[in-house]
Amino acid sequence: MEEKIKKYLHKKTKEGLLRELKPVSLKKDGKLVFDDKEYINFSSNDYLGLSTHSELLEVSREHIFSVFGSTSSRLMTGSTHLHHILEEWVAKFKNKPAAIVFNSGYQANVGIISTLIGRGDVVFSDKLNHASIVDGIKLSGAKLFRFRHNDSGHLKELLEKERKNFDEALIITETVFSMDGDLAPLEEIAKLKEEYNSLLMVDEAHATGVFGKDGAGLANDKRLEDKVDIIMGTFSKALGSFGAYAATSSGIKKYLVNKCRSFIYSTSLPASIIAANIKAIEIVEKEPHRRKVLLDNAEYLRNKLIAEGLDVRGESQIIPVIIGDNERTVELSESLKEKGYWVTPVRPPTVPKGEARLRISLSYNHTKEDIDKFIKDLSRFL
Ligand code: PMP
Repeated sequence: MEEKIKKYLHKKTKEGLLRELKPVSLKKDGKLVFDDKEYINFSSNDYLGLSTHSELLEVSREHIFSVFGSTSSRLMTGSTHLHHILEEWVAKFKNKPAAIVFNSGYQANVGIISTLIGRGDVVFSDKLNHASIVDGIKLSGAKLFRFRHNDSGHLKELLEKERKNFDEALIITETVFSMDGDLAPLEEIAKLKEEYNSLLMVDEAHATGVFGKDGAGLANDKRLEDKVDIIMGTFSKALGSFGAYAATSSGIKKYLVNKCRSFIYSTSLPASIIAANIKAIEIVEKEPHRRKVLLDNAEYLRNKLIAEGLDVRGESQIIPVIIGDNERTVELSESLKEKGYWVTPVRPPTVPKGEARLRISLSYNHTKEDIDKFIKDLSRFL
């Protein structure tokens, strides 16, 4: 084993792909501190700045009673009143009959997918779907067909050819893609789901709080909630907290409660987090200016970067600047760091080979001055 690990680490170092953990401190204004230096954070998923919202912190503190942990899984004694209230809130927010809360987005995707489908079934998954979706499919044992990114024509071709050979079928896509920041063609995919008698699951991790009426996500924005069987999302990004959920039918919820191993065999989230999650939904609904400012700033920055001649993707608060070469991407990230910006380089295998990038994610915490200064400094390194 030792030899195997050594070889792996040597190879990654040689390729410039070795990842390392960095101890940082997060600050109230959304900035971060590393090695005593302060940085403007362009790598956080705290899109609406809710992780530092006073009401979220307050309600979380209020719910640290004499018991801190939930002490048990949901089916034992860990299903507190607050968990049930949160699930009612999520169902209403997402306009679905029911909802089920998970401890993380990773656990939700792995658990939901591997519970709903299995051997003899088939999954049609966007090529750029998140690792947790890929892992859920692998665990399920179902046959996998990956359609070209956001290409509903290719999805149709695959459905036409393969759907009839399998029992159950699941189509799955992110709605806002985490590494590309673009939006799925949800109307077309929803039509195909009906035409080919399949279940449709969407991952709204990066859309929730940002898109849609009341910030409920893209399925809601497109009025497609009825067509999407499972709307999965997280509390860990724009909602500034931790945990995840699936908004779905009562039947699917009951099935998951009884059969989903990542739900059943894990201690439930503590009250302080559940209370914060309820509050986060309330804030998203009552403070729409946060998502408006965020998306306006994203459009502003995207246009400025395009004007600099950069290869910029997406149409959301996630703004990937494709550099291509791994080393050049790391170099740029380091130069930006010297100027006080934290922009993590994203390299394969997280993104396809030759598409290393700076993934800039904007937050409500960023000011126009931050953005203007960033553009000016970045252009010096190009
Ligand atoms: N889905 C997507 C699209 C994600 O980007 C992430 C997190 N990066 C997850 C699921 C996992 O969510 P969590 O961080 O809550 O485990």
